[in-house]
Amino acid sequence: MKLTFLGTGEACDPNRLNTSLLLETGSDYHLLDCGFTVPHAFFGHCHDPEQLKTLWISHFHGDHFFGVPLLLLRLWEMGRQGPLHIIMGVPAEEKIRTALELAYPNFQERLQFPVHFTQLTPGEKFNYQDLHYMSAGTIHSQPSFALKIKNEKKSFYYSGDGRATREGEELMQGCDLIVHEAFTLEDRLESHGSIASCLSLQIKSACNTMALVHLARETREEEKELAKILSENKDILLPTDGEQLIL
Ligand SMILES: [Zn+2]
Ligand SMILES: [Zn+2]
Repeated sequence: MKLTFLGTGEACDPNRLNTSLLLETGSDYHLLDCGFTVPHAFFGHCHDPEQLKTLWISHFHGDHFFGVPLLLLRLWEMGRQGPLHIIMGVPAEEKIRTALELAYPNFQERLQFPVHFTQLTPGEKFNYQDLHYMSAGTIHSQPSFALKIKNEKKSFYYSGDGRATREGEELMQGCDLIVHEAFTLEDRLESHGSIASCLSLQIKSACNTMALVHLARETREEEKELAKILSENKDILLPTDGEQLIL
């Protein structure tokens, strides 16, 4: 598996794209979250409209799903024919179709490829070829879900937004990589993770590597503190946009 951090920022960060991950398995692409600023970065990596097989959306905040209309428009323009699976922890179809209608009225009737919507609730599995998807709720200001993707060899966990729940902690056990949002330095907000809580999650989960994303702009400004944390914790990464990891 190859993972590209298309974006690592929060909603309003002027220096980073919205947090989004591109997973490559062979020639297949799987996209995790698609906010306002993500589609152009995605198409910088994608020149074959059939490559994208699944799209996971963690929750309905604009920095995680308002890029979907442009994503679909461009795939249409490129002549895609094969089905796209959109997967969410809550029912997705009505909101996605509404967003599409607002962005490009009457366009969806012309979409020439099928879009399949799947609700993946905790405890269930979605399988795409040798990939297994599992979800867990997070504690956020609206329903939001973390995702674990595993194949026979590797597994990784992406938090989306929000603090980890107990079921999320179970899901991240033993993962090769955890990508977690860390909005603040210390636990301060009810609905967001922090670097402090991520450090303890990494120890509890026995995970090899943890990448922190979606830091608030004020948190990014704590440069000395961040440098200290990274120097003391070699398994913690602070990826930049476009950075890649091989799992
Ligand atoms: Zn967000
Ligand atoms: Zn959010």
